[in-house]
Amino acid sequence: MRWPLIAAAVGTALVLGGCGKNIPPESNSRSVFAMDTYMTVTVNDGRIGDALNGAETELKRLDGLWSVTTEGSDMYRLDNAGGAPTEVSPETAELIAFGQEMYDLTDGALDITLYPVVREWGFTTGEYKIPDQAAIDGLLKNTGADRITVSGNTVTLPQGMSADLGSLGKGAAGDAVTAILKKNGVTSALLDLGGNVQVIGAKPDGSPWRIGLRDPWSEGSLGRLELTDCAVVTSGGYERFFVGEDGVTYWHILDPETGCPARSGIASATAVGKEGRLCDGLSTSLFVLGEEGAEELWRSMDSFDMILVTDDRRLIITEGIADSFTLGESYEGVIKTEVLRR
Ligand code: AMP
Ligand code: MG
Repeated sequence: MRWPLIAAAVGTALVLGGCGKNIPPESNSRSVFAMDTYMTVTVNDGRIGDALNGAETELKRLDGLWSVTTEGSDMYRLDNAGGAPTEVSPETAELIAFGQEMYDLTDGALDITLYPVVREWGFTTGEYKIPDQAAIDGLLKNTGADRITVSGNTVTLPQGMSADLGSLGKGAAGDAVTAILKKNGVTSALLDLGGNVQVIGAKPDGSPWRIGLRDPWSEGSLGRLELTDCAVVTSGGYERFFVGEDGVTYWHILDPETGCPARSGIASATAVGKEGRLCDGLSTSLFVLGEEGAEELWRSMDSFDMILVTDDRRLIITEGIADSFTLGESYEGVIKTEVLRR
């Protein structure tokens, strides 16, 4: 995988010129391409240069471990081990074990071993196709994250199975970068990891960060959250999809029960909490689970808040963040807001 380093393009952070490096030393923002997306880290205080270098190195390192298409990466070696135990780095073993926890927690709605089915639809390459039901059924026989064994840093995936961490990786990377920034004295930062937003502290003027919630039906923003110290992760069918010859839209989040795009009545699901990897896993899961399943999961845990936008244009928001959300003016009367209380 290539690693183009692009000049930061966030706000007024970019200061051009300087000493011939890609990023001028005055800049407090850095963008890298990792995990198939552009990621931008903006820091406002602390040892800015060290923090940004550390963040960039870490994002590249984790992408190098988790990319399923990079020969020699942890996930590539695991997926091609033919059932043999595979030694991986501690971060990989830990994230796979976390994927298993999420599988249990969500009754199988999040399944990192769904990868062969995701690949069959062409979502990994962009060569989309609608697979035969027989092919999907065959592939589904070799799924189930509970069948992975993790023992220390040794992971065993039964022969015929493969896994990918696409549903968790950006969130986990956000947690890792957040830790590096904090070690470098950063108390105010914004991470935009391809739509996964993670913030440290507040804006430099002390006011909360404003995080836009994307309108699933257009490029615009449906409203905004004003928050500090948290991860905000959204999953939606609009992120990666194709329209089949049958005129139907097929997206990249699959229901592990059917092996087909999850059609649960949810247009986008956002999870808000302290931990990026949990929010990442949850946003994908909530999208699969649908309104009822998502509410049940939220009631059974106290570690996250959520916003569900439904196909019938309702916005369901949990009480912990209801006061932090402002619906865009043009959506008033168009989108009906409902607050979930415990
Ligand atoms: P996210 O963007 O975090 O919602 O994750 C979506 C990605 O995870 C997809 O592009 C697939 O690679 C993979 N995926 C799709 N459906 C599932 C699922 N039900 N469980 C786990 N991973 C999935
Ligand atoms: Mg996710």
